[in-house]
Amino acid sequence: MPTPSTPQPWNGALFIGGAFVPAEDGRTSTVYDKAAQEPLGEAGLASPADLDRAAREAAVAGRAWAAADFGTRADLLRDVAARLRARADEFAALIVRETGSIRGKADYEVAGAVDELHQAAALAGHVRAETLPSRAPGRESVAERVPLGVVGVITPWNFPLVLAMRVLAPALAVGNSVVLKPSPHTPLSGGLLLADLFAGAGLPAGVLQVVPGGQDTGEALTAHPDIAMVHFTGSSAVGRIIARDAGERLKKVSLELGGNNALIVLDDADLDQAGQIGAWSAFHYQGQTCITAGRHIVQRPVFDAYVAELAARAGRITVGDPTRDGVGLGPMISVEQRERARKLLDEAVGAGATVVAGGDGEGLFHRPTVVTGVTPEMALWTEEIFAPIAPVLAVDSEEEALAVANDTSYGLVDAVVTGDLARGRRLAARLGAAMVHVNDSTCLDEAHVPFGGRAASGLGGRAGGESNLHEFTELRWLTYQHTPIHYPY
Ligand code: NAD
Repeated sequence: MPTPSTPQPWNGALFIGGAFVPAEDGRTSTVYDKAAQEPLGEAGLASPADLDRAAREAAVAGRAWAAADFGTRADLLRDVAARLRARADEFAALIVRETGSIRGKADYEVAGAVDELHQAAALAGHVRAETLPSRAPGRESVAERVPLGVVGVITPWNFPLVLAMRVLAPALAVGNSVVLKPSPHTPLSGGLLLADLFAGAGLPAGVLQVVPGGQDTGEALTAHPDIAMVHFTGSSAVGRIIARDAGERLKKVSLELGGNNALIVLDDADLDQAGQIGAWSAFHYQGQTCITAGRHIVQRPVFDAYVAELAARAGRITVGDPTRDGVGLGPMISVEQRERARKLLDEAVGAGATVVAGGDGEGLFHRPTVVTGVTPEMALWTEEIFAPIAPVLAVDSEEEALAVANDTSYGLVDAVVTGDLARGRRLAARLGAAMVHVNDSTCLDEAHVPFGGRAASGLGGRAGGESNLHEFTELRWLTYQHTPIHYPY
């Protein structure tokens, strides 16, 4: 594994103009192995001046890229997919250490990123024009899809590789250039290694620029006049700021934000199934996913049995360094996230909640935790927790389950567990989230599905498949007049 002294081309660099270059002011930031807290490498730290150069060069390089035939773009994306497959082990090993996840999650990310590339390569051939009827004699009227120009991409740390790839692959496929700002927690697997991959496949210089940095770099990206669209994945709080900043500049913005997702267990549920689904939805990757189930809503007849199932499963998960065999949960991403989870849990317990499994762990490690006695007023219930904590609430009826589930400002994903699929479908139709799964986890995603959120979880845009055409192109109306025209002047 690289260390600061390992001569990797990306170490300490930004990726601008097709080359790994130092930041203008020479600044770098150290990237840590989250479990061992040892340095993994250095990333360059882009200043607003670096961002400016990246955006301007992307605008210029993007013109030739947009004009390239779709086959060239598709072939390049397939080549990147093959290269990623060949380097899967290297990427997954880095993700384990940079994000503190177990290997299974890292392998899922790499496979997901390969899928995104294949989907995007296919999408390149689906950028269509449509002939429209016209009232004017001799007027040929066409609506064609054209790239937006430079797409600015801001990503979070939890699934750095696949969340970057799910934006930059389709954006590039349909002819945009991209300026990517990864999270400061994960600038390697979320940025610089991606640049290495695309550069190796021969992506023309300037078409992908990677500018690691923090809030100021993200703000400079949102504000830059050469960036036509900002695609943001992250918290709802920052999403609101970006929507405001982009709105002031009348810039297209796409937001994939947080969630506080409900898992409803009905009284006819198979409890072994419910336990598996509940534990995976709550604890997977330390509960640090936007689609984690943060609210478990259970009909009273099966409440005790469900809590017992969940607690038993929580008790069997080993917490520790994810590079060790048998570990099921790694560290939380940062001291801040760890402290926030601790505070939410302490406050809930102070207000009468009971920890029936797990609770506090050592250092950055939080044990998988099951909490009962919660009320819908507690912050542990209303806020996105982003930790392996499952608050469980009893309800008396299906109607009450529905009302409690829909009582949220978020709208990302819900799930229902029931022994009767038809009952599940009826309930799913009345749930307010943009994605609903019956008899499966809240934590589902595939490269071709319309993934996204509504309300505080997003603006309603969708990532995946055909939706990406709408996200990353705009319509242009063209007319060709075939016969002489006569105007009064
Ligand atoms: P975050 O909002 O703190 O940061 C996300 C990115 O925004 C980072 O790159 C950060 O540097 C940048 N940023 C921060 N302030 C900015 C500003 N003022 N202007 C521009 N950029 C700015 O989120 P995080 O902690 O990295 O990620 C966790 C959050 O992401 C959770 O809320 C989670 O639910 C959400 N998320 C959503 C999805 C989805 O698809 N809906 C997927 C993964 C994560």
